[in-house]
Amino acid sequence: MRKRLAIEIRGIVQGVGFRPFVRLLAEEFALSGWVKNTAEGVSVEAEGEVARLDEFLRRLSSRAPALARVDAVTSGEMPVLAGEGFLILESGSGSAATLIAPDTAVCTDCLAETRDENSRRFRYPFTNCTNCGPRFTIVKSLPYDRAATTMSGFALCPDCEAEYHNMRDRRFHAQPNACPLCGPCLFLSYPDKSPLAGDCLESARRFLAEGKILAVKGIGGYHLVCDAMNEEAVARLRAKKYRYDKPFALMMPDVATVRRFCLVSGEEEKLFSSWRAPIVLLRADPQGRAVAAQVAPGNSRLGVMLPYTPLHHLLMQGQEALVMTSGNVSDEPIAHEDGDAFARLAAIADCFLWHDRPIFRRCDDSVLVCAAGRPRLLRRGRGYAPEPLPFYSSDNDILACGGQQKNTFCLVKNGQAFLSQHIGDLHNTPTLESYAAEIGHFENMFDIKPALAAHDLHPGYLSAQYALSLPPGVVKTGVQHHHAHLASVLAENRLDEKCIGVIFDGSGFGADGCLWGGEFLLGDLSSYQRMAHLGYAPMPGGEQAVREPWRMALAYLTEAFPEGLSPRMKMLFPAEWPLVWQAAQKGVNAPLTSGMGRLFDGVAALFGKAAVNYEGQAAIELEQALTECDLPPYNFALIEKDPLLIDWRPVIKEAWRDVAGGQSMGVVSSRFHRGVIKMVTEVCLELRRRTAVNLVALSGGVWQNAYLLEQTMESLQKEGFTVLSNELVPANDGGLALGQAAVACALAKKR
Ligand code: ZN
Ligand code: ZN
Ligand code: FE
Repeated sequence: MRKRLAIEIRGIVQGVGFRPFVRLLAEEFALSGWVKNTAEGVSVEAEGEVARLDEFLRRLSSRAPALARVDAVTSGEMPVLAGEGFLILESGSGSAATLIAPDTAVCTDCLAETRDENSRRFRYPFTNCTNCGPRFTIVKSLPYDRAATTMSGFALCPDCEAEYHNMRDRRFHAQPNACPLCGPCLFLSYPDKSPLAGDCLESARRFLAEGKILAVKGIGGYHLVCDAMNEEAVARLRAKKYRYDKPFALMMPDVATVRRFCLVSGEEEKLFSSWRAPIVLLRADPQGRAVAAQVAPGNSRLGVMLPYTPLHHLLMQGQEALVMTSGNVSDEPIAHEDGDAFARLAAIADCFLWHDRPIFRRCDDSVLVCAAGRPRLLRRGRGYAPEPLPFYSSDNDILACGGQQKNTFCLVKNGQAFLSQHIGDLHNTPTLESYAAEIGHFENMFDIKPALAAHDLHPGYLSAQYALSLPPGVVKTGVQHHHAHLASVLAENRLDEKCIGVIFDGSGFGADGCLWGGEFLLGDLSSYQRMAHLGYAPMPGGEQAVREPWRMALAYLTEAFPEGLSPRMKMLFPAEWPLVWQAAQKGVNAPLTSGMGRLFDGVAALFGKAAVNYEGQAAIELEQALTECDLPPYNFALIEKDPLLIDWRPVIKEAWRDVAGGQSMGVVSSRFHRGVIKMVTEVCLELRRRTAVNLVALSGGVWQNAYLLEQTMESLQKEGFTVLSNELVPANDGGLALGQAAVACALAKKR
């Protein structure tokens, strides 16, 4: 018996070779009909024998192309037409809400071609196909067709055109398809744009060998690149970039090389060699090869990625390890437009290896770490954005504006959450402009018209100011910072039930106007209650105390030792400390903080770390110094109040006794970490007694500390708790937007 079905397919089904896959499958089952891209996904009409149609339907999802993600296949019966052949129809135009694939690392087939002397793409740096290459960063609008990408200016040559139209070719409808005859060109130029003669790649490799700094145009922006084995080159890059201490990312040519430098688990290897090709934080092998010390000073982890474009592979030839850091000065956004890149990076780079395929949107490399048995995103960018996360159903489109630091935003439509790539810190005009522009692009691309805007309560956050500046027709919802962190964990799991949120971060704006960050919240999506928190301490000099942890040590020591500071303590502080403390006591620029991140800083500063060059540096160094020991953990005191008060004074007293007694940082770190873990367990047990809630959500930047996360989870699980933490979005403020969206969505449903 014959039947005709109208089939709708949803998911990541455009730009991934889905239509030719459907057509080949239809031919295999002798079906007639057609397939086309639509604004919502892919539409198919297929006609044939019932049994064959059933199998066809099944295979649509089970055999889908590598990069596709089929979320739903629905079908309905239609009148039989008895037509012949199976066609691929041109895309309809109009509004577009289709999903688009992230940028994808070069596939093995394409890589082989660039290494094959007989191929017309021998050594061609822009080789790609339906299974690989740039996507998100070159798309201007949808539906995804060449004309809507930054490839529109490159007319296909006859050979490429033939591939593009040949359904049996790997490059059938591959929009960025290109070859040396018709595609983008590579250039090597001095900072004044004057070209260098000779083979670009050969010269570029020679420059690297000579210790020079290259600006290299990649997928989502420019990288600054130098030989990671060359101490002088790395130091020079640091000085020119005004970036001190913060680790540089590395690119290594292959897995075998990575294993010579790092200790790599099977899971980690799978992660960095996937098509997403992110940076993965790996433990440096103390017995292995070592990169220049300046790559990651004071850090036992290395951020490593594999080459993900043919250009990278060609550049890596003969190299062991290259520094590959974002092409920017200090904390500005990564440069992605050629003019801007030359203007901003000319003072840093000795020459530019670039090309004429425009990058439409900037997108930093993603960063992950494997902790507590799971890969966890620390920065969500290339290879992940804009792949949506399944979300709660909502009647309205939602915009969640995110935080101030490590900003991302989130747009919700039809039960899907589209997270932006990492935008960065919104403290300067260029980043804010990039932020507003990117929200506009996302709204256009996915046809999202937010009726709700969620934002942080901090009046100084530019993201919150942006939300409040939206037209009056958009309903604004303020979401408390740590409530949003809690909700981000629930949202990843699409849960909405009461949990104990243990939210530890540097700071976020609290409901009482203080800076929170050592919080135990009892909450679900629509409400929360502050059940316990770390005792307040003044932050002398406000934000300055983040860069200068001695200020926190001063505050903690003064409160822990009311009898007065010893001479030895005073040696930790620069000469101006009495003035700083006087001002703090008068309440001048000394906001109260309960931030766990600050307490980590303060304990690290007991060892004389007066200043740091990036937020959390002292805490990271404290974590990495940790050496296992048998001495008991430090003790927090719990003071019966509402909310429960967690007193850190005994911890500071014990820690100082150890420091003064000559204990190593490793021992103090171990006792301190275990003290925090014991305290978290005790408080959770107490809250479970009071509330009968057994689900714990760990979120906030402090949980990026892998030791703390793993040991706390283990300790809580031993007590029978169900423990969740962030995986798909960062536990730091990069995950706030998802949580804000979840809260706004839940509150809207209640109204
Ligand atoms: Zn390919
Ligand atoms: Zn061509
Ligand atoms: Fe936070």
